[in-house]
Amino acid sequence: MSAQGRSAANDAVIIGAGYCGLSAAIELARQGARVRVLDRGQWGDNASAFNFGSVAVMPPALPATAHGDHDPAQRLQATLAPVRALKEQVEAFGYDCAWTQPGHITLALDETSASTLRQRGLDAQALLGGGVLWLDAHQVAGQTGAQGLMGGLLNEHFALIEPARLLLALRHHAESLGVCIQYATPVLALEPGLDAVDLVLAAGRISTARVLIASEEAWSLSMAAAREPLTLHQTHLFESAPLATAALQLISRQPRVYGTATADKDYFRVHQGRLLFGSRLGLVPLEAEPQAVVAALRQRLVGYFPSLGDIEVRQVWSGSLGFTPDGLPRTGRSGPVCWGGGYCGSGIATAVSCGRQLAHMALANATPAFTVGEGEPPQRY
Ligand SMILES: Cc1cc2nc3c(=O)[nH]c(=O)nc-3n(C[C@H](O)[C@H](O)[C@H](O)COP(=O)(O)OP(=O)(O)OC[C@H]3O[C@@H](n4cnc5c(N)ncnc54)[C@H](O)[C@@H]3O)c2cc1C
Repeated sequence: MSAQGRSAANDAVIIGAGYCGLSAAIELARQGARVRVLDRGQWGDNASAFNFGSVAVMPPALPATAHGDHDPAQRLQATLAPVRALKEQVEAFGYDCAWTQPGHITLALDETSASTLRQRGLDAQALLGGGVLWLDAHQVAGQTGAQGLMGGLLNEHFALIEPARLLLALRHHAESLGVCIQYATPVLALEPGLDAVDLVLAAGRISTARVLIASEEAWSLSMAAAREPLTLHQTHLFESAPLATAALQLISRQPRVYGTATADKDYFRVHQGRLLFGSRLGLVPLEAEPQAVVAALRQRLVGYFPSLGDIEVRQVWSGSLGFTPDGLPRTGRSGPVCWGGGYCGSGIATAVSCGRQLAHMALANATPAFTVGEGEPPQRY
């Protein structure tokens, strides 16, 4: 088939069928573009389907190694705007993703993190207008039986979703607008030409006017000189078998979500009578066997709950999170190729916003490199 013939079928090709890619597809299709989404995996085989479900309203904590300039107001805006936009989108289209606001407690394990969190609480209180509360060690003990806690910051604005259900809602929305989603189709390389881009696939090539790279892992397909490097941090998560009431009460007396104070953190919550426990400490390599991941996570778990060391684990997930030095996500463009990412571990709302911005960039033929969170809220369509 000639490149001309091939390009006629695709106004835009999106690499990645996660939150970002499907959001970009919805926006492009809404503007009348013929859109094809290619994903190397199978349906539900990505971080958008199996993450922890936290929709954080405070900027993600950065790893201890972060060295960029951090502008708190800009970071708060970059976090809050996508969350508000996502909530509006969920309500506008009736996405069945179980949006709740159970409250999040950021746990302090030592005096340093306690004083940082107290200050963060005061700042957040001022910016969010209430709903953020410092809990001392005694009050935290009323919420969770985790050991060794100095206190915690309760944030009632924090939201929780069912990740796979949000992904499914986005997929249905995209398909209802005529978007073609093709799984098990890895994009091996991009070859930009004068007026089109060729995508190299295992089965041949396709040509398109625009390519949107909607995966942090696929950034390497774009021109290295035109994009910032991301620092990848591994995160691992498991779900236990159903637990007895006593164990559930030990983990959490209320339906709260918990995490420790830094980005190199542990996180846990109860989900449908089971424990979800994860860590961003990069405990084992991504390609490690599930047993190795479970053993490493169990070791973290007993630090908080010594009696849960022999907990039965049913599912394990691992993935990498892309961090930028200043904690702000990025979109960028080089000719007909746009890309986005750098969600710093808080990718649910930010990836959805990023997809929308990528679509706008692709349609506008503009060349800005700007941060997500500045976009308009979603329009009803
Ligand atoms: C264990 C875990 C827990 C997490 N918990 C949270 C949380 O609680 N809150 C939060 O906000 N965020 C969380 N995250 C992060 C969040 O899940 C991600 O930031 C978000 O899903 C990113 O969406 P995405 O669309 O960019 O990427 P993805 O969902 O990863 O989708 C990208 C897609 O691109 C495809 N792809 C990659 N390369 C190619 C290629 N060459 N060709 C074709 N397809 C390709 C992949 O197969 C994938 O399906 C977590 C992540 C993990 C791993």
